[in-house]
Amino acid sequence: KNEFAFIGRSNVGKSSLINMLCRHRGLAKTSATPGKTLMINHFIINKEWYLVDLPGYGFAKRSKTVQQKLEQMIAGYILQRQQLVCTFVLIDVRHDPQLIDREFIDWLGESNIPFAIIFTKADKLGIVKARAAASAWMEKMRDRWEELPPYFITSSDKAIGRDEVLDYIESINNELANG
Ligand code: GDP
Repeated sequence: KNEFAFIGRSNVGKSSLINMLCRHRGLAKTSATPGKTLMINHFIINKEWYLVDLPGYGFAKRSKTVQQKLEQMIAGYILQRQQLVCTFVLIDVRHDPQLIDREFIDWLGESNIPFAIIFTKADKLGIVKARAAASAWMEKMRDRWEELPPYFITSSDKAIGRDEVLDYIESINNELANG
């Protein structure tokens, strides 16, 4: 089964987004490692693919040791997991590029990991401003990338961008299934 991972800073809206994507799809949500919230904690299962909820990065409240262990765990999963076909990096559409996001995205690029960007909380700006903010954000990252990755503008509150993200996931699954 193909896996699609979701990651971002704490409070970016990751849980809300995953819930929005799963709604009305009859997807079962299970916990791979019950009670261990520090681990890769949710797998949301469909017949052909999983959504994987990775722990947030950049928690100021965690101790250095815990944070380092988490980072190693996340890095190990992303680099070694053969079933992982795309990593979605979540960015709050209201924020300018932050160092921690850039570092993470640069690391994905250097490691040749396929990824896409999901801008969250578009309803907080309104869709028109959110589109402008997202494209400005992408422009600021352009010099770092040879090609721009796909990006999506979403709101979990207003169910914006849900079909686009799910269609993208389906298109990757179809591509892989058809060689
Ligand atoms: P996580 O820590 O990344 O999993 O973030 P959560 O999904 O728990 O969301 C963090 C906060 O942002 C919560 O208060 C959510 O209600 C809020 N939030 C998440 N997504 C949206 C959104 O699309 N629109 C609005 N207005 N608020 C959101």
